[in-house]
Amino acid sequence: NLQDKLDRAFKVLKGQGSITEINVAETMKEIRKALLDADVNYKTAKTFTDDVKQKALGQNVLTSISPGQLLTKIMSDELSDLMGGTVSELETQKNPTIILIAGLNGAGKTTFSGKLANFLKDKKGKKPLLVAGDVYRPAAIDQLQILGEQVGVPVYVNRESTDPIAIAREGVEAAKRDGNNIVIIDTAGRLAIDEALMLEITAVKEATQPHEILFVVDSMTGQDAVNTAKAFNDRLDFTGVVLTKLDGDTRGGAALSIKSVVNKPIKFIGTGEKMEALDVFYPERMASRILGMGDVVSLVERAQQQFDEKEAAELQKKIRKNKFDFNDFRSQIQQIKKMGNMKDLMGMIPGVGKALKDVEVDDNAFKPIEAIIDSMTPFERENPDAIDQRRRTRIAKGSGTQLEEVNRLMKQFSDMRKVMKQMSNPAMAAKMMRNMP
Ligand code: GDP
Ligand code: MG
Repeated sequence: NLQDKLDRAFKVLKGQGSITEINVAETMKEIRKALLDADVNYKTAKTFTDDVKQKALGQNVLTSISPGQLLTKIMSDELSDLMGGTVSELETQKNPTIILIAGLNGAGKTTFSGKLANFLKDKKGKKPLLVAGDVYRPAAIDQLQILGEQVGVPVYVNRESTDPIAIAREGVEAAKRDGNNIVIIDTAGRLAIDEALMLEITAVKEATQPHEILFVVDSMTGQDAVNTAKAFNDRLDFTGVVLTKLDGDTRGGAALSIKSVVNKPIKFIGTGEKMEALDVFYPERMASRILGMGDVVSLVERAQQQFDEKEAAELQKKIRKNKFDFNDFRSQIQQIKKMGNMKDLMGMIPGVGKALKDVEVDDNAFKPIEAIIDSMTPFERENPDAIDQRRRTRIAKGSGTQLEEVNRLMKQFSDMRKVMKQMSNPAMAAKMMRNMP
């Protein structure tokens, strides 16, 4: 599945201190494959990965997060932007507000009509009316009536008529007469290639001048959903999309493609057969869903808050000159501690976090190290190489630790400095320090 693929893609980055042209290119190739498998169309997937690559290469890797995490954050933001970025509100202020529902057979139009009526009736001062505009099957009218009864919303029905245009018009009149300020017109399913039926729904639009035309589409249809959306939009110029049946294990890749192909906002998602199973569409949440991960965004944001870019630049300079000393080491430890409970943080990243799960970090582990550093003189902190056995014995005594512990720290510190010099990279440095205790 997509998660496994992403995991594999991140492996490419795992253990690498920085985002480079090569590791990003490789990762993005994997991501593109994964997106294609999740029903995102080729052009969208390509544009997306190109954009992410561009952004990723322009970023400094934070000392406190891995490149994989940073990339995940960039991807998540980019996905969210692709799907509109922000919530797109439904127009409900007109009196009456007329909402026309359109789409293929079985997409979930009638179900959604009931759900929307239910959703709006709880809003202050909203009195919806459902209009049964599917005249081709008597059962369709029954279905809407049952749903209307279930949610406590009246349904306008005219069983004598077989003219959906007239019925829609009558429904709007009935709403005005009865003081309903929202009119939801359910219609029959139709194929975009069925010219007669497409002309019919265009005529319903002309006759009722709807404020919202919602295109309802089954998210399980994958790529077909995109083609259908395009065909319907060419004819109807709809105002928004409703993605249904997102309660299964559908990844929602269609959401991404639809938005980028027709450039119309997704307004709602259906997540079940029940009348309550309707959600306003949040691009950020869908981005997480597509990436199949937990709250990566807040993890990265927390890390970013704690990160002082200037300090990192200083640090990098020092490492390059091999001047990284115990003062820097201590401030790094403090920065890591500031980020909060490490295990909490890791818990937020089920997929990506796996890579770091084995890295046990607990605040207490730093205590002896800090005690040792505190017992050093300022001269010693700045000149780690000058700390000989005599000084070490004194430091051990002063910090209430064993000489072996001081020796171990000195050894680790000097190994670390060597590697750091090679890496000359603060992200790697932070990672190693996390491994130290
Ligand atoms: P219409 O032909 O477009 O009016 O589609 P219907 O509203 O009659 O729905 C077709 C089928 O899909 C019905 O069995 C619905 O219960 C089901 N359905 C609609 N929306 C959802 C959804 O969000 N999740 C699930 N699981 N089923 C849905
Ligand atoms: Mg129907």
